[in-house]
Parts: sequence; structure tokens; C-alpha cells
Amino acid sequence: MSKSPLIKLNNGVNMPALGLGVYLSPPDQTANAVRSAIEHGYRLIDTAAAYGNEQQVGDGIAGSGIKGDELFVTTKLWIADYGYDETLRAFDVSMGKLKLDYLDLYLLHWPAPSTWNLTVQSYKAAKKLLDEGRVRAIGVCNFNANHLRDLIREIGVVPAVNQIELHPLFNQAELRATHAELGIVTQAWSPIGGVFTNHPHDPGAVTRVLELPVVKRLSEKTGRTPAQVILRWHFQNGVAAIPKSVNPERIASNIDIFDFELTADEMAAINALNTGQRNGPDPDIFDMAFLNARQERATKK
Ligand code: NDP
Repeated sequence: MSKSPLIKLNNGVNMPALGLGVYLSPPDQTANAVRSAIEHGYRLIDTAAAYGNEQQVGDGIAGSGIKGDELFVTTKLWIADYGYDETLRAFDVSMGKLKLDYLDLYLLHWPAPSTWNLTVQSYKAAKKLLDEGRVRAIGVCNFNANHLRDLIREIGVVPAVNQIELHPLFNQAELRATHAELGIVTQAWSPIGGVFTNHPHDPGAVTRVLELPVVKRLSEKTGRTPAQVILRWHFQNGVAAIPKSVNPERIASNIDIFDFELTADEMAAINALNTGQRNGPDPDIFDMAFLNARQERATKK
């Protein structure tokens, strides 16, 4: 049975408020994680062409016994495939791996502002897929307010979702307000702090979101795990979230957040943890040149 409440997107399509992320889920553990999530009431799976596990997500879905139309599947177009024709080709490749007839949500993975024209062409191709009914909704990831407004001006379709880095240490209040104004649903990546530690100015400070004293205190007070407290905070802020886990117990507990409530004071205490510092790359400089340079530095070491 589905456990997550639904959030209505700006084109009327319903999306579960909580789903499973699979970034860095090893391919040989991904099908099991997806099956386990579906068993525990997840109905949204978030993957991407760049994660290298769309095939295994497709295997997990096929082996779950749940029909495609009861699930909400998201995948993302990688920036190396930006461009109109390239996007249509990449979409077909993703769909072949996922083994689906249609997709629920297709996202552009990064804005790649240095080659913005290609980004716009990709979104135009995504609109064609939407018009043809091959996807039910289209959106973006990691776009700032200017990227969003430029894209809407160029193509005329407001993204249904902007999936962005968002957790208590980087709570994105300003961008969330822009989303509310434009009618875009905010979906949090790294919702429980992610696979990286935060980079604080003070290296001695506690930086793992799940180990922050405020979070630990609220976990003890509510009798919930630190991850449940934070995922509940997202939900009460109206933010969709896609926590990643390959561990069946964590998968089960991460969605078990719809039977308790944080008080206004407890919400405020978590809101106050914001440092304004992101863990992930700056969307304004993230493009293929940035990635290639990073790769080159890593291989030289
Ligand atoms: P998360 O905040 O989901 O954290 C995942 C980490 O937390 C993993 O190491 C996981 O380990 C661990 N974990 C999961 N549940 C618990 C728990 N209850 N207690 C303690 N530890 C736990 O970060 P991600 O960066 O993975 O983000 C989530 C998803 O967002 C990704 O999987 C991906 O789908 C999406 N994403 C999108 C991006 C974009 O650019 N659009 C960028 C990054 C992510 P374990 O598996 O061992 O449980």
C-alpha cells in the first residue's frame, strides 16, 4: 500500500511527497533497494541517466509486482546529451533501460549556463515529449531563479519540479519562495545531508546533519530517528524529498513519517540551522568543462 501523501504538480499530475533516491546506489544493489522500497510503500523512484543504474531500477520495478501506472518514476537527462535531437535520443535510451511505456517526470539534470542554448533546446525537446504524452510532467534540477525565469520566457512551460540541494544546513528559503511564486514544486536532494559532509567555516563544528545536536535532541524528544525528524521537517515545509538508501531497514523507516508532527518551535529550531553553504557543486559553474577539469585533476593525483 502507498504510504506517501501526494503533491499536486502545476499540470494537475499527482506526485508522491516522498520517494527513493538511487544516486550512488551500486548497480548490483539497486534492484533490491527498489523492490524493498516498493514493498515498504514507496511509489516514487528517482534515478538519472548519469547514475548508471536505470537498467537495475527497471529490473526492480519489473520484479516488484506493482504495475507501472501505480508508480511515479523520475529520470534525468545528462548534460552531455543536451541539444534537441540529442535529448530525444537520450530519452529513448533511458526508457529502454527502465522498460517503461511512458515516464512520469523528466528532468534536465543541471542548467549548464555556459552552453545555455543547448539547455533551452533540451527543454524544448522535453516539451515535445510532454505534448506527445510520452512523459507526464517535465522539470529541472539545480536551476536558480534566473535560470528558471529565462527558461520559462524561452519555452513558455513552467517546470513542474525543481530538484535542488536542500537540507537543514542549506535550506534554500529564498529559492523556495520563488518556486511558490512560479508554481513549481520543490524537491530536495541530499534531504538528510547527503553522502558528503558539509564544508563549514569552522572545521571543528559538527557538520553531519544527522548528528547535529538540535536534530539529536528532537530525535530523543519525538522518539523518531534523526532521519525521520528531518524528513518530517521537509514534509511540513511543503518540500518533496527523495532520501537514498540501499539498506532495507533505513528504507522502511525513512518513509514512516506520516503519523507524527513537529511543533512550530521544533520546525523553527531546524530552520535556524541554515548555514547558507552548499555541499554540492555551484550550478552556475557546473558544465562539461568543469567536470572534465575535475576528472583530470583526480587522475593526476
Ligand atoms: P541523502 O540525503 O538521501 O543521504 C543518503 C545517505 O544517507 C546514504 O549514505 C545513506 O546510506 C544514508 N542514509 C539513508 N537513510 C539513513 C538513515 N535513516 N539513517 C542514517 N543514514 C541514512 O543524499 P543523496 O545525495 O543520496 O540524495 C538523495 C537523492 O537525491 C539521490 O539518491 C538522487 O536520487 C537525488 N540527487 C539528485 C541530484 C541532482 O543533481 N538532481 C544530486 C544528488 C542527489 P545507506 O544507503 O547505506 O543507507
